[in-house]
Amino acid sequence: MSSSRMLSKLLPIKGVQVPIGLFIDGEFRAGNGSPLQTISPETEKPLTSDAIHSASKSDVDLAVSAARRAFNTTWGQNVSGPDRSQLMRKLADLIDRDTPLLAQVEALDGGKTVTWCEGDIADAAACLRYYAGWADKIHGQTLENHTPTKMSMTLHEPIGVVGQIVPFNYPIMMAGWAIAPALAVGCTVVFKPAEATPLTTLMLAQLVKEAGFPDGVFNVINGTGKETGAAIAEHHDIDKVSFTGSTATGKGITIAAAKSNMKKVTLELGGKSPSLVFDSADIDEAVKWSAFGVFENAGQSCSAGTRLLVHENIYNEFVTKLAQAADEIKLGAVLDRSTQQGPQIHKAQFEKVLQYIDIGKSEGARLVTGGERYGDSGYYIRPTVFADVHNKSYVAPACRTPHDKRLLTYLQAQEEIFGPVVVVIPFKTEEEAVAMANDTSYGLAAAIYSKHADQVGRLMHKLKAGTVWVNQYTMLSHNTPFGGYKQSGWGRQLGSYGLDAYMNVKGVSWNYGPEPAPKL
Ligand code: NAD
Repeated sequence: MSSSRMLSKLLPIKGVQVPIGLFIDGEFRAGNGSPLQTISPETEKPLTSDAIHSASKSDVDLAVSAARRAFNTTWGQNVSGPDRSQLMRKLADLIDRDTPLLAQVEALDGGKTVTWCEGDIADAAACLRYYAGWADKIHGQTLENHTPTKMSMTLHEPIGVVGQIVPFNYPIMMAGWAIAPALAVGCTVVFKPAEATPLTTLMLAQLVKEAGFPDGVFNVINGTGKETGAAIAEHHDIDKVSFTGSTATGKGITIAAAKSNMKKVTLELGGKSPSLVFDSADIDEAVKWSAFGVFENAGQSCSAGTRLLVHENIYNEFVTKLAQAADEIKLGAVLDRSTQQGPQIHKAQFEKVLQYIDIGKSEGARLVTGGERYGDSGYYIRPTVFADVHNKSYVAPACRTPHDKRLLTYLQAQEEIFGPVVVVIPFKTEEEAVAMANDTSYGLAAAIYSKHADQVGRLMHKLKAGTVWVNQYTMLSHNTPFGGYKQSGWGRQLGSYGLDAYMNVKGVSWNYGPEPAPKL
């Protein structure tokens, strides 16, 4: 298929064309996988006039070969750190230039508000710049050998071809977080966006080309998880897979990686993150941060603060104010700049969230506000607050009630709902709060709201989570690592820690003196 046909009109934005092909070896081309149709979550209708191309196993092979070739010839250890850095900065500048358009497409494709998308896209550009700063600072160590005629050193080398698989909730931002450290150290990338949000990563591919990256350094292959994602996970010539998505999928990817070539795996997975609100906290601020922490992106955030553990002295006031904050959130069209919450990503997720809400209602949790669809078209759900709940439950219904018996089946549940649903749980003592906070199979994030520094100091050690926010929520910095304890992941993204995932460390021991070989 000609490359001109690799562009499609995006209907709601006048005159805009987005690529729909696979981006392999610097070109858009047709794919042989089952075509994808990306649906607008607010209109429930297809967004593009043509289906999006998807990658079959043989297309994945092509992309991996291109990435391998580039790694061996035009990237990897063939390009200096300053040169990699310069290209990354150029890409960041192009992202800045195209932010208004990228943000509109991302909003329509993923159902996020355009203002949030602008922030996400700025974050992707900033992440590229942050890691561009690292590209010429990758170094190993020289190690003392206690003799002047020998030395040992470590070399930090790019791991090779990496497969990167991301979810739907922050398409470009996740792309930025994933590719920036990989490119900085010299890896080449085969990238798979989520099937629900294929568009902006294809636009990013256009910018990668315009920035002047060698062909094959960055390849985009859309497709379903079952077909395209699985082909990445089990590929024998991919050296490492970095995955962001659900814990269940992450487990499957790990197994496939082990069964194929034992490729390295890093995982950023789900969460059911607790916030501990103490009676010393500024209640109004704690309410605002908590509402922000859970309802941002319609609750579709891995680190969403979905379990609010609140001290009994301030419990009633907190619940009332949280419900008010939830009710004030403006749902609406994603391109309307006053909209604060868009729809859920797709029908299946919309139905799943409503199902969790029904379970909460039927199991006796107190629905304080929300708990229903908003409007009659689009996958909108009103911000929902359940109170008086128990930590050991599905959405966390009151397990101390006569429903106890039925709930036993849900004891390990505490599931990630991935929608605008929060549960509020009272506690009496710090020990009780910490025990409940840690009583989950996840460990992505946690928050402490307290004015007592000694309490914060104690708790930041006790909470089993990869990120602990204090008197705030969701605030991330590119220099601060992000990742999970327990079933929330392996490895860390961001910061200098994020580079480790893309490097092999080689130990070199060198005898340049007269020392002869030892006798056998
Ligand atoms: P998902 O696991 O369903 O899909 C994520 C990606 O994996 C998609 O690209 C999908 O196509 C692919 N995939 C699915 N099955 C696959 C398979 N068998 N082999 C290979 N790839 C496969 O997740 P989702 O519904 O898109 O996203 C929501 C999840 O992502 C939530 O659990 C959320 O917590 C998690 N998430 C985690 C982070 C983090 O940094 N920890 C960030 C964002 C989202």
